[in-house]
Amino acid sequence: MANNPDRKPKVLIIYTGGTIGMVQNPKTGAHEPLDFTHLAKHVPELEQIAVDYDTVQFNPPIDSSNIEPHHWAQIAHTIVDGYMDYDGFVVLHGTDTMAYTASALSFMLQNLQKPVILTGSQLPIGILRTDGKENLITAIEMAAARDKIGQPMVPEVCVYFQTKLLRGNRSKKLSAEECNAFHSPNYPALADIGIHITYAHHHIHYNMRTEHLTPYYDFCTDVVMLKLYPGIPQHIVHAMLTIPGLKGVVLETFGTGNATTASWFLSEIKSAIARGIVIVNVTQCIGGTVEMDIYDTGNQLIQAGVTGSGDMTTEATMTKLMFLLGQGMTPDEVKQHMLQSIAGELTEPR
Ligand code: ASP
Repeated sequence: MANNPDRKPKVLIIYTGGTIGMVQNPKTGAHEPLDFTHLAKHVPELEQIAVDYDTVQFNPPIDSSNIEPHHWAQIAHTIVDGYMDYDGFVVLHGTDTMAYTASALSFMLQNLQKPVILTGSQLPIGILRTDGKENLITAIEMAAARDKIGQPMVPEVCVYFQTKLLRGNRSKKLSAEECNAFHSPNYPALADIGIHITYAHHHIHYNMRTEHLTPYYDFCTDVVMLKLYPGIPQHIVHAMLTIPGLKGVVLETFGTGNATTASWFLSEIKSAIARGIVIVNVTQCIGGTVEMDIYDTGNQLIQAGVTGSGDMTTEATMTKLMFLLGQGMTPDEVKQHMLQSIAGELTEPR
């Protein structure tokens, strides 16, 4: 597709489901997803938007708590298939696992040169106070936005909610109540949305235009998240680390990556690593960086062979671990790649 800035931009909307398109079941009172026609009916403004758009949808649309890696692959395939025909992509998605999907897509779509913007809403589009209408329209606008020479403004996988466009693999859903539900604790917003849309070009990543989009679709799900708490007993840690077929663990620790120094705990960790299981240390804190060398309680984990996650979110760490293992890497290769940025998910140690 030619980069003529005067040509009307084309956007593909991929509707996967989520609250944005749901209606209340009169019998149960629960929100259930409907198809895109229902959604479009409530946004007549779509007729006026200066963008040509097409839609594809999951059949049926789903609540994002039901999303699995094969759905990530389905979204990525749709983007790859339409890559030459569209200027950008909007993925309508439930908010609950949006940060996981955004992280996964950022690893799958390497050398991406076009915007992929995930959005959704906290209130269904049919409800008067919905936040979905604005989120949808602004997401389309940003997916279509090009500079003076016709290049896309934000060629990244992003999450857009309310006032901020965030790098997808840096985003987190932090509120089950507020409409401004998503935040990016360790990386600045890629755009601020007010009366104007102000792009932070110095924070946006632009891939080399000579590289071609290279998709990867495989993820390994033989992983577990182990969240520590004061008093966690040995039999629980042991049971989790000896799950048959286990290949990777995201260990949610305290503060800058600290854990109990009880000898049973360290020997469970060492023994799992000796069996070829990759253990990645992520903090339970919302923001900040894992720096295991600050306290003895972290340092002991380094000695045991645990890998740090830097300033990655738990969502990015988990999907990255699943992604690296899914590419058939050995434990040493996974460890080595964990602290190298694939799509800006991590501030690389200097
Ligand atoms: N449960 C819904 C979902 O994630 C919540 C939402 O969309 O806000 O699909």
